[in-house]
Amino acid sequence: MNSPLLRKAAQYILKDTGEANESPKLIVVIRILLLSMLFYIVVNSIIYISILNNIGIVIFLISLLIFLLLFGMTYRYKTTTVVYTLNLCMAAWIIVNIFYFGWDTGVQHFIIVLLVLSFFSSYSQYGAKTFYAMVLCVFRIALFHLCRSKEPLISLPDTMINVLQIINTIMIFSCLSTIAYVFSKDSQTLESKLVEYNNILEDQANTDALTGLYNRRKAMQCLESLLTPSNKSFTSICICDIDFFKKVNDNYGHDVGDMVLQNIADVMVTTLDKNFIVSRWGGEEFLLIFPSCNGDDACPHLEQLKSNIKALQFNANGKPFSITMTFGLAEYDFRSDIDTVIKEADEKLYMGKENGRDQIVY
Ligand code: GH3
Ligand code: MG
Ligand code: MG
Repeated sequence: MNSPLLRKAAQYILKDTGEANESPKLIVVIRILLLSMLFYIVVNSIIYISILNNIGIVIFLISLLIFLLLFGMTYRYKTTTVVYTLNLCMAAWIIVNIFYFGWDTGVQHFIIVLLVLSFFSSYSQYGAKTFYAMVLCVFRIALFHLCRSKEPLISLPDTMINVLQIINTIMIFSCLSTIAYVFSKDSQTLESKLVEYNNILEDQANTDALTGLYNRRKAMQCLESLLTPSNKSFTSICICDIDFFKKVNDNYGHDVGDMVLQNIADVMVTTLDKNFIVSRWGGEEFLLIFPSCNGDDACPHLEQLKSNIKALQFNANGKPFSITMTFGLAEYDFRSDIDTVIKEADEKLYMGKENGRDQIVY
């Protein structure tokens, strides 16, 4: 939209109502519909100018004036007032058109535009909307019975009726598409935002805030989906715990303790394959899951992890220090259950602590 004139026109059409609790979108849709109606009336009057009698010309001029006034109303009156007036004017315009040009031009289908518009006109009032749908339905049936067999004031040749049918159909489809596009776009945007927000919430619910690893809840979910009786491959799980971590906190402070936990989590992620699961089980304990691995397969990975962690050099207030971890490894043999295998890993961790720490017990 480079032209300043087009930009100004767009600004004018998109201008807000200025009223609180009113949808700016609805009034813009109504303006677009009214401008389309004005264009439609002008095009029709050009096509039919040769056959219009005086009454016809008056009808066209009055229609133009009414739709112009309605357009002006969108800047001065409440949207609900505009909607009610628009409905009344459209109904009158439909009746006059049918009496003048006859039933076969299809102008009565504009009732469907009114029906769809009424359903987007407010956020609640479902009773009122249903009632209005029934009124429009009765109006349509009454029109059918009153006008179907009535001779129109102007009898148009078949070709002209066909042209009018096509113009009306295009116009009605355009109006319905505009309404549907504007209002569905919003709900689609809202829906995709909700999906995005749900994903963020789900991530937060599954993630440990300090280390960014899976938390205990997510680790349990992974175990539940892996350790099922139908899974006939081995799965190894390991619970590991930082040795004398309390001393780290006591000697260097809680912040340094946090930093150590973050560094260890990073080393776990970088050392272990992507298909292994690393989680913070709680405090300074981590749970590692090795899908499709028996204990012998998992051991070399744990040896590597143990030495990488031991090799980490920390520094607090100029004082260097390092830490060690103890690992308890258990194997799921598809006969036991989750609790049993966790308990077994925990017992082995305890044995490792008892036997001097800094080791893998399997
Ligand atoms: P052990 O070798 O027997 O495991 O000794 P330990 O000192 O590591 O074990 P203990 O259970 O006595 O202490 C664990 C400490 O971990 C106590 C607690 O304050 C600390 N801790 C738990 N969660 C966090 C955390 O998120 N941040 C920090 N900085 N410390 C934590
Ligand atoms: Mg510990
Ligand atoms: Mg502990």
